[in-house]
This record gives sequence, C-alpha cells and structure tokens, in this order.
Amino acid sequence: MLQSMNQANDVKAKDAKQLWHAMKGSKPDPNLLVAETAKGAWVTDVEGNKYLDGMSGLWCVNAGYGRTEIAQAAYEQLEKLAYFPLAHSHQPAIQLAEKLNSFLGDEYVFFFSNSGSEANETAFKIARQYHQHKGEGQRTKFVSRYRAYHGNTMGALAATGQAERKYKYEPLAQGFLHVAPPDLYRNPDDENSLSSAKAIHELMTWELSSTIAGVIMEPIITGGGILMPPKNYLKRVKEICEAHGALLIVDEVICGFGRTGKPFGFMNYDVKPDIITMAKGITSGYMPLSATAVKREIFEQFDGEDVYDRFRHVNTYGGSPAACAVALKNIEIMEQENLFQQSEQLGERLLEDFQGLLSQPNVGDVRGKGLLIGIELVEDKQTKEPIHVDKINQIVAQCKQSGLLVGKNGDTVAGFNNILQLAPPLNITEEDYQFIVKTVTESISVLN
Ligand code: PLP
Repeated sequence: MLQSMNQANDVKAKDAKQLWHAMKGSKPDPNLLVAETAKGAWVTDVEGNKYLDGMSGLWCVNAGYGRTEIAQAAYEQLEKLAYFPLAHSHQPAIQLAEKLNSFLGDEYVFFFSNSGSEANETAFKIARQYHQHKGEGQRTKFVSRYRAYHGNTMGALAATGQAERKYKYEPLAQGFLHVAPPDLYRNPDDENSLSSAKAIHELMTWELSSTIAGVIMEPIITGGGILMPPKNYLKRVKEICEAHGALLIVDEVICGFGRTGKPFGFMNYDVKPDIITMAKGITSGYMPLSATAVKREIFEQFDGEDVYDRFRHVNTYGGSPAACAVALKNIEIMEQENLFQQSEQLGERLLEDFQGLLSQPNVGDVRGKGLLIGIELVEDKQTKEPIHVDKINQIVAQCKQSGLLVGKNGDTVAGFNNILQLAPPLNITEEDYQFIVKTVTESISVLN
C-alpha cells in the first residue's frame, strides 16, 4: 500500500499519461482501481481499499488469488525450460493435453494458443480447412448468436453478436451469420418449443446448408447477460449441425473449469462438441493460455503429405512450458479442493438466496448455473423493459462502494445492458458468500 493519498494520486496521474484502458476515454478516471495485491477472493488497491472480486477479474481467477503453489510451479518450469515452441514439443504441454483429455474421454487433440480470441480463430481456420479436405470447400460460413461475445480479433469479433463491440471496426471477417439466442425470461415457451434452435435450422436452410462450416456457441451466454438455454437446446443444436454437415464449436472460455459446476459447461447438456475452445479458467488467469480441442477424426483429415494439407497456423507463445505447468497445478488444486462441486452447490444456494430479490420492484429475473449468476433488472415487470443503464450503473457503483466488484452486460445498441453479473472465485469462503448476498441485496435496494 502506498503511504499517502498523494502517492496514490501520483500513480493514477501516471496511469492516465501512460495507459490506454479498454472502455475508458483519454481523461483520467478518478475512480480507477489500481490493484496491488490479492488473496483468495479479495483484491487490495494501492490506497489500501479491499474489494471482494465478484467477477474473478474478467471471469478467470477460478481458483482464487494468491496461490503460492501455482507461482512455484511457474518458477520451477521457467528455470527448467523457459520457452520452447510447439512446432517441437515439451512435457508440460503433453501432460496438460492428457489431463484435459481425462475430462473429455480421450477423444480430442489440443492446439494451444494464448487467449480465448485466438482459440476461436484457430477453431474457425481448422473448421474451414477440414471441410476443404473433405471435398466441401464451399463450407465457409459460421452461425453464431446475437448477444454472444467470442473475442476481439477480426474473426472472433465477427462471430460476436454485440453491436457495441463491433461498431466502427467493421468490415470484419466475412461469412458470420447470427440468430437470436434463447431468452427464457422473455420467451418461456422456448423451453419446450426449442424455437431458438429451430431458427438455426432455418437459417442454415435459407443460406444453403452445404455452405455452412460450423456453429459456434457458449453453453450459456455469459458476458451477453447469463442467458440460460432450454435444457435440450444444445443437444438439439448438435443434431441440427449433424443433419446439415456443420461442426459444433463450443466456446468454453468462461463456462469451462468449474464456472458452471462441471469441468466444462457443455457437460450440463449431454452433448459432445466437435471442437471446444477454452482459456481463462484453464490457468485461473495466472498466465495467458488457451486451447482448441478438436475431435480426433477431424485431426485425422490433416494427414496429407502436401504442405497445404497441414494446419499452417503458427504462434510463438501458445502452450508455453510455464503456462502449461501453471494450468496443470491450477487444475490439480481445483480438483483437490473440490471446487467444481463447490461452484455447483454455492450456485444453487445463491439462486435460492436471491429468490427474495424478486420481490423488489426492478428485479425481473435471477438465473445462472454454478458460480455464474445473472440478475436481470427491468423498468417494469409487466413489459420487461430493460432498466435504464444509469440505474444499473448506480447499483454497480454502490456495490463497489461497499467493497464488492460486480459486472454488468453491455449492448447499448439493443438496449440490453441491464443484467448484473456475478462470477466470483470458486473458492469463496462462507464469510465471502454472506458478504456477496448482503451487499448485492442492499445495493439493489438503492433503487427503491
Ligand atoms: N469467448 C468468450 C465467451 C469470452 O467471454 C471471451 C472473453 O471474455 C473470449 C472468447 C475472448 O477471450 P480473450 O479475451 O482471452 O481473447
């Protein structure tokens, strides 16, 4: 902690001069949180303020902060073999792939990268090339959903269905089509009719099935507002993909590694994707790492002798030895401490404890799975009109004032920036749990 307010202000002034932050303008932000240390679920800033990080950073610190064993694993690996490219190989990458496959029935091979966006770009390139090798090079299009986020690069952003992220950066990669996602709060009939899945079938038909390379989706839309799918939605989408010859790519960047109470989010919905992308919780954010897991039979289509039969996609840092060692230790800790189960149980309990919020005038819906919770705020419970963004900002600010960092979704264009989001570390204590319930409940009541 810095000695005085003056020193803290000095740091903020330097920040304003030197750094460009996402979603912030060029003027200094007096409320900027400059983090210094963190332990468990708690972050301390340079002024000595403590916050329970109800968003695990950017949905990634699943195992919690301050894990000495993870730091030690990184240190030891950096000393032993600091770097080596995966054009060759090294043991931490092999061991991590084996570990990931232990969750996945040993059916996948892994291509490592550094971020969720890259993992998705990798998936798109693999899918297009796979179809080429199968003699169906006309399959170039991808189907995605409005309100979903898949990353900041030209392909992953094209897959994203949030205009707020895309506007002024277009044209993006070509060939990405969107359908409306399930929104059971507004369309409860979808639970049985699965009309949101049928929309994918219809889009593929209208677009000409034989031009579709794949469908990308998160098991549960996260950043777009914690949109729970109907129970049989993902399974139905997989059947539709099979009927149309398209690959199902499941984006587990947030839903993976216990966030929804299972190793991977799709495991809640009885499907096996063709390609799975993962990042964030794979290392709990301790080092950058992502992976694209690809069904072995897809991989086997890349066996030709010609250079153009190979996947010509190279990155310098993907699957670096230390990042893989960190991922292995992180997963070991989460298994030893039963954090996936803890996420499942605490999630169920939170949903129950938050039921009381529904009696507040602006709380329309409370939903989620595991420690992935959304609270939808509306102006009017009859019309379900999203609450004005200033009001949700007021709640987020009140939570912060009380020492809790919470998130909110963002798509101002469609008017959906009305959902409070919670995704705390999976190892929160009982005291942390109580603090979250109390602070969220009190902060929402500022609107009354
Ligand atoms: N996919 C999803 C579902 C995400 O939420 C994100 C990031 O938040 C990404 C992909 C992109 O990951 P990254 O920011 O590591 O590139």
